[in-house]
Amino acid sequence: MSWVKIQLRQQGVSDDGVSDSANADSKALLGACLQQDLVYLMMWPEKCLQPTERERLMAWVTRRLKGEPIAYIIGYRDFWSLRLKVSPATLIPRADTETLVELALALDLRPDAHVADLGTGTGAIALALGTERPSWSVLGCDLSFEAVALATENAQTNHITNVEFIQSNWFAELGNQLFDMIVSNPPYVESTSQYLTQGDVRFEPSSALTSGEDGLDDIRLIIKQAKTHLRASGWLVFEHGFEQGQAIRVLFAQAGFQHIATHTDLNGQDRVTCGQFG
Ligand code: GLN
Repeated sequence: MSWVKIQLRQQGVSDDGVSDSANADSKALLGACLQQDLVYLMMWPEKCLQPTERERLMAWVTRRLKGEPIAYIIGYRDFWSLRLKVSPATLIPRADTETLVELALALDLRPDAHVADLGTGTGAIALALGTERPSWSVLGCDLSFEAVALATENAQTNHITNVEFIQSNWFAELGNQLFDMIVSNPPYVESTSQYLTQGDVRFEPSSALTSGEDGLDDIRLIIKQAKTHLRASGWLVFEHGFEQGQAIRVLFAQAGFQHIATHTDLNGQDRVTCGQFG
């Protein structure tokens, strides 16, 4: 059966309400199955799958029909210029988070800046910063041992040598290191949010998603502790929920940060807030 027919068959899925992105899903699964990109799929629409390819694809489609995220099925997600291995131990990197990377790169840091990424997961932010700024040294940390192992592997497969990863509960294992910038995409979803009951997030670790009733528990803690880990004029940069910008600006101000600003993501929603210390 040609992939176009498989795609059409899966498109029926959207009519059943199982997936609202059946078309994109089937292309992503097929491309990964054949280890080819979209251009190849478009150039060879009538190409037939080998029996083993077909078997693998159908097993993947079955998993997708049960709701499992594409990235966990194929094992990777592209973020920034990098291909990152993912696992159910970590959040799947999101395009929204590229907003944080862009903003962090736009800040005026010294050439040999020391940067921390708290709650690094796959290592997405740390590795994007490391690859763009080879003269920086970046430290990514995560509470999860599996995440640290995964992020370390992602550094190796992407040949990035100025980023290291350690297991740490926020600042707990960072000793008295001082940073020019601390970035974080911490858990920030409200613990009782209905959002958690739908779609891909059902399969992601809740420890990477939720943070107390208002979603701000970890952000409050990091702002408080960051002050003893930032150099003078160092920056703290958070990704956060689209309705949390105002509350986070207040937290920054109460902690004595300056030049506090919230930036929007590609959908025009508040997504990243930064502040400068001292
Ligand atoms: N932005 C993520 C989402 O919408 C949440 C990520 C997080 O809590 N850090 O699922």
